[in-house]
Amino acid sequence: MQHIVDMTNLDKYFGDLHVLQDINLSVSPGEVVVVIGASGSGKSTLIRCVNGLEEFESGSLVVDGHELAPKGANQQNLQNIRKEVGMVFQQFNLFPHLSVKDNVMLAPMKVRGASRSEAADSAMKLLDRVGIANQADKSPKQLSGGQQQRVAIARALAMEPRLMLFDEPTSALDPEMIGEVLDVMRELAKEGMTMMVVTHEMGFAREVADRVIYIHGGRIVEEGKPADVFDHPQNERTQSFLSRVL
Ligand code: ADP
Ligand code: MG
Repeated sequence: MQHIVDMTNLDKYFGDLHVLQDINLSVSPGEVVVVIGASGSGKSTLIRCVNGLEEFESGSLVVDGHELAPKGANQQNLQNIRKEVGMVFQQFNLFPHLSVKDNVMLAPMKVRGASRSEAADSAMKLLDRVGIANQADKSPKQLSGGQQQRVAIARALAMEPRLMLFDEPTSALDPEMIGEVLDVMRELAKEGMTMMVVTHEMGFAREVADRVIYIHGGRIVEEGKPADVFDHPQNERTQSFLSRVL
């Protein structure tokens, strides 16, 4: 089966900082890959490369059959990739001047040319799926952080992505709201969505991930099934990281 993501020998620099070093990573359809590692290790940069939010210097990256070229080359596939990849950030980044429902309707109408009524129908289904259909006409700022993040997930799903990227989606939330967002993500995973998730929620990783990747200093130093990585880490850096966070 064709991979959704294929990263081969990918290197990225920020000036002198070799932020991603020889990354080789493939993600299969339906797979949930959780990326863990200390702050500054390159997790966000890694997943931002996957939808072209960051350029890279060398190596190759193919997302759902579309190749994204290294920096300087023609990026003709960037729009194709962005259409197929949904992203959810730590900060929800909702459009503050639009209602919850309009936030979810916007991209399908603008990017895919959906009609207003089609977009509205599918927005209501998505809001129902993330449990906030009753908030559709509110402004984002009237919602709790957990509700706003669920809107952000619905908004990303509205583009019917082949891949969802999550960068610490619960890190900005009050503790009592973390569970409701993780529940939505768990459901998505169960329904077969292909996902790459950066998170510090190790319980979620253990339960939902098919594979856990530990990054240190821009390198993948360990990867495997959650039970193997969490219970029998092979690399001493992974051991020391886990002893601090578990
Ligand atoms: P993580 O998400 O694991 O905390 P990041 O991918 O955000 O790590 O950052 C990895 C490293 O790259 C850090 O040292 C960070 O300071 C640096 N970095 C991130 N973004 C930029 C940028 N736009 N310009 C320069 N350095 C950056
Ligand atoms: Mg980060």
